[in-house]
Amino acid sequence: MPRSYVAEARRKKVEPKRHRIGPIVEALAVEHADAKIALRFERPLELLVSVMLSAQTTDVNVNRVTEKLFAKYRRPEDYLAVPVEELERDIFATGFYRQKAKALRGTMQRIIEVHDGEVPTAFDDLLKLPGVARKTANVVSAERGNAQGIVVDTHVRRLSQRLALTKQEDPVKIERDLMRLVPRVDWARFPHLLIWHGRRICDARRPRCEECPLAESLCPSSRV
Ligand code: SF4
Repeated sequence: MPRSYVAEARRKKVEPKRHRIGPIVEALAVEHADAKIALRFERPLELLVSVMLSAQTTDVNVNRVTEKLFAKYRRPEDYLAVPVEELERDIFATGFYRQKAKALRGTMQRIIEVHDGEVPTAFDDLLKLPGVARKTANVVSAERGNAQGIVVDTHVRRLSQRLALTKQEDPVKIERDLMRLVPRVDWARFPHLLIWHGRRICDARRPRCEECPLAESLCPSSRV
């Protein structure tokens, strides 16, 4: 179980989360006007592959690998046309390359057989692709303008706990809390705002509260 940040949210008294969520989104949107997905892709298939490869590694690492990968594998059929060992070599640097190669091939097979070679748009159809879990389906749907939930990664989990938007530890329960709280119109951008804030200011070990626009009245974990 990763470290919990729930207890940090007892440092400072703040308004109830329903009153704070709007100002939090606004302040983060100003602070991180450039917040967007860090993975590089042009087509839905590239988006799906990038997100599948991003498990347990950094977006920078994935982008390095996909730059060559997408020049070589342009259609779902291309992932099945090479021996599995070749695909494993091509994605090796993203880690867990055996599981990822297996998931990619299973996904491509289903895309060809069930979806005429196109990445499905329906959330439930995405979830039926082998190796595609809720987080991946959420990212893909959100980037295609059809957010069905809120992506919860390590940054979203930590910041949601520090901001007392949830007391949960499990990503599925955290997502449920956030979906009740965050206006639907903000479901796609909200995780990007938290991720960028987490990377730039609200570090896991040393949050830079003195630089944070939420420190004064919006964050109960503030150290200033
Ligand atoms: S950096 Fe901001 S969001 Fe993070 S704990 Fe400090 S005040 Fe809260």
